[in-house]
Amino acid sequence: MYDVLPVKRKKETFDVLVIGCGLAGITAAFRAADAGVRVLLITKTQLCSGSSFYGLMDTIHCQATIDENDETVFLEDILACSARMNDTWMNQYYIRNIRSCISYLKRMGIAFEKLPEPKLPCFGTHAHDLYFWKDWKQIRTSVRARIEAHPNITLAEDTELIALLQQSSGAICGACFYRKNTRTYEAITAKSVILATGGFGGLYKHNLNSPDVCGDGQALALKAGASLINLEFNQFIPGFISPGYKIVFREGSLDYCSGLFDSSQTNVLRQYFSSDEEMGHCLKKRALHGPFTTADKTGEFDLALFDAALKSCDNGVEICYRPEILLDPRSYVRDYISWLHETFDITLSKDTIKIAPFFHAANGGIFVDHTCQSTIPGLFACGECAGGIHGADRLGGNASGSCLVFGTLAAISAAAYASQTSIYSLSESELQTQLHRTYRSDHTIASENLLSPEAITLKVKDLMWKYCNVQRNQSDLDFVRQEIQTLRQKFFPWKYLFSSQESVLKAALCAEHALTLSEALALAMSQRKESRGGHYRSDFPLTDPAWEKRIVISIQNGTLHSSFSPCMDRDFSDAVD
Ligand SMILES: Cc1cc2nc3c(=O)[nH]c(=O)nc-3n(C[C@H](O)[C@H](O)[C@H](O)COP(=O)(O)OP(=O)(O)OC[C@H]3O[C@@H](n4cnc5c(N)ncnc54)[C@H](O)[C@@H]3O)c2cc1C
Repeated sequence: MYDVLPVKRKKETFDVLVIGCGLAGITAAFRAADAGVRVLLITKTQLCSGSSFYGLMDTIHCQATIDENDETVFLEDILACSARMNDTWMNQYYIRNIRSCISYLKRMGIAFEKLPEPKLPCFGTHAHDLYFWKDWKQIRTSVRARIEAHPNITLAEDTELIALLQQSSGAICGACFYRKNTRTYEAITAKSVILATGGFGGLYKHNLNSPDVCGDGQALALKAGASLINLEFNQFIPGFISPGYKIVFREGSLDYCSGLFDSSQTNVLRQYFSSDEEMGHCLKKRALHGPFTTADKTGEFDLALFDAALKSCDNGVEICYRPEILLDPRSYVRDYISWLHETFDITLSKDTIKIAPFFHAANGGIFVDHTCQSTIPGLFACGECAGGIHGADRLGGNASGSCLVFGTLAAISAAAYASQTSIYSLSESELQTQLHRTYRSDHTIASENLLSPEAITLKVKDLMWKYCNVQRNQSDLDFVRQEIQTLRQKFFPWKYLFSSQESVLKAALCAEHALTLSEALALAMSQRKESRGGHYRSDFPLTDPAWEKRIVISIQNGTLHSSFSPCMDRDFSDAVD
């Protein structure tokens, strides 16, 4: 009954498929198109989506070198927070190219401004130039106009990647999609594919990502044979539980924090500090970076918050502010306060605000080389779904900058790859075999024991929030891995691809990706038996030099497999434009 998935074969072929319409995908599409190749730019939602254009955020910031003299200290800042888990060549490439990549924003229709004074980034020790852009609606209109005017870019919205298609050699030859407006599956032939599908916040119950960001690219790349790296290094920052769920929290406000209070009005920070002075000192340091880290002894704030948030049963923990916050003269604090007030009618220090640690961004992802190519020929990745560039912590403002710099590098590389590659069209049986494999059509379990896609995703999100959050330990991680394997046995994704209800079909795709990727994350977290950067193990609280190696996850013989990649700390001075 479920033998053949009906898939339309599109006649039109492309040099480069770019999947994802956040900052990385848009950059990659323009750059490849400007290099003269034919590009299809695809998103499962709309143009200018994902974390890059997160609706409950005021602005996005991008950190850049002030000039050539600033390059050395910028690199020192990156290396210091990366704790040897980064790729120095790629970091140097960023530093050399970020200024020209910011100028290119205008070409894509994104107007930007520069903060009047250099700013210290999260985890940095030197102030650098900070660029920012805002007003997503206006940006979307202007980017759309530029795309429509570009002879080499075709845009397909509401089109969801469901599988990567490969030749028998393993090389990429296209991808398969679900199209919402026609409710059909389509296979598109292309010489190369750039994944720019963002991070994996959707794996977590509480995350600061839009719902379209749930690790599809990483999960599908892993299944296709690519490796993932640095999955244990993720960013968790406080987010609003109420009065507005998922509103972005700005760490600068912690300069005025007077405590975190549970439902019995106990300040939960007190248990970690012997005096108000000690607590104030920690909060001052914690106010310098958004994400949790083990690197600077400010983690008590996040651990106290997490512990109390778990006990609050999702009601969050009250954060109180001194009234002086409303008089802070710094532009990024002042702008945040007025944005909260004007957009959500929230006044810090007056309204009751409850927070919890939210998943914010991934530092790891699809392992790429110095051309942004994954371990699969013809498959490139950039933006948050790419891994190995950043380290255990990431310098603030470098995620958006990486979308610009490595979106460009991925585009140049994919265009060059396409120019030396011929179109390869899969036979119908090859196509069906690959789809069957991706969605486990050989699964055998009595239907009365199956769980629905929604139940699977809910369960995964809950496990990830409880056990793969700022605090992790071996027995919890073993439990998560065991639970996910059990859930996998209770889920038969293939049959849902035939559902006439679109919501069921989409939920099934989401559940299958969630199972694949969450197990990979839990494996990486359980392998690293130390604490480093954003990865904290309560059973191994110290950083251990013996763990100066990077964890790589792949699938071998149908099973997740972990191996190590050495740290790369050579000076790659050839990382030029
Ligand atoms: C609240 C918040 C604030 C942040 N602030 C900053 C900041 O100030 N500075 C900074 O440097 N970084 C910041 N970051 C991080 C940064 O925004 C992200 O890392 C970056 O924007 C990711 O961009 P991207 O293009 O890789 O992915 P995204 O912008 O997330 O885009 C992903 C795209 O892929 C599409 N997609 C996903 N799955 C599929 C599929 N199966 N098929 C087709 N399309 C798919 C999505 O619809 C979307 O279009 C912030 C992140 C968050 C969440």
